Amino acid sequence: MSALLVTGGAGYVGSHAVRELAARDQRIVVLDDLSEGHAASVGDVEIVRADLAEPGTAGTLDELLARERFDAVLHFGAKAYVGESVADPEKYYRNNVGGGLNLLGAMARHRVPAIIFSSTCATYGVPEQVPIDEDHPQRPINPYGRTKLVFEWVLKDFENAHGIRHVNLRYFNAAGAHEDGDIGEDHRPETHLIPRACEAAMGRGEGLSVFGDDYDTPDGTCIRDYIHVQDLAVAHVLALDYLQQEGESTSFNLGTGTGSSVRDVIETVRRVSGRAVPHAIAPRREGDPARLVASAEKIRNALGWQPRLGSLEQIVETAWAFKLRFVNGYPRA
Ligand code: UDP
Repeated sequence: MSALLVTGGAGYVGSHAVRELAARDQRIVVLDDLSEGHAASVGDVEIVRADLAEPGTAGTLDELLARERFDAVLHFGAKAYVGESVADPEKYYRNNVGGGLNLLGAMARHRVPAIIFSSTCATYGVPEQVPIDEDHPQRPINPYGRTKLVFEWVLKDFENAHGIRHVNLRYFNAAGAHEDGDIGEDHRPETHLIPRACEAAMGRGEGLSVFGDDYDTPDGTCIRDYIHVQDLAVAHVLALDYLQQEGESTSFNLGTGTGSSVRDVIETVRRVSGRAVPHAIAPRREGDPARLVASAEKIRNALGWQPRLGSLEQIVETAWAFKLRFVNGYPRA
């Protein structure tokens, strides 16, 4: 049986990928420091608790990779708040670049041949045109996006030097929760639009702030490409099969190709929940491009991937169901 190491496997996207991989009767070890992830989200999969950015973790990785022959790594473990990355770039470079180097160093020493990397549309920066394809120039406009782009370069260099093949999956807006209802999005603090709109509909907090309604879009609010987290998870499985069949290193966008505005999201949450979504217009958030929409043609053509839960309605239905079930998020460990 092949074995996989999943860093950040207890996080939001990671836990959905673990669920998808576990359904294939796959040996999986999760490596997660549980700083943001939740042990409850990986079921009975083994968790090695370690922080990739700690220098001492190199020893933990050496032990783990000597004990178990991994065929590939799925690397989700990273910090992912844009605002925090502006305020504390050191944390982002240490974790997203330094932590990743710790991992790659161990992979090179133990000859693990392949890695799937959670990259982001934030590596593109302000788009020159939408939809954005993989050849669009990468000019990130915040430290978070820069750390992810730097790591794409690092991966290229490690391929040249050590033959480790990689797939960069550039996510657009991951959203929704598992259809089973027991895993979903639980960030602390929560900054993302869909969970925040759900919280507003539940009467929690002071209502939703809409960050700007004077953008050059049909309703004045920002447009994003929301992709269901299970569709993202499936793409990881396909990318893994691709690498295991000796596919060349490459990058794929992951979005649906459909843009939804902040107002579309509010209206969908209202419809799905049957409740009002109290909201007020607030100033623009720094660094928010008006439109980010993926062209996902490349992964459709290369791997046959296509979204199954592709509508905003389906995304919001699952997100709302998870919020209702876990009003206060996952139980605290
Ligand atoms: N947004 C908003 N209010 C919020 C959170 C987000 O208006 O409380 C907007 C944000 O400006 C962006 C969109 O919703 O245009 C999606 O933001 P999110 O933080 O969910 O994801 P991002 O696009 O930053 O990855």
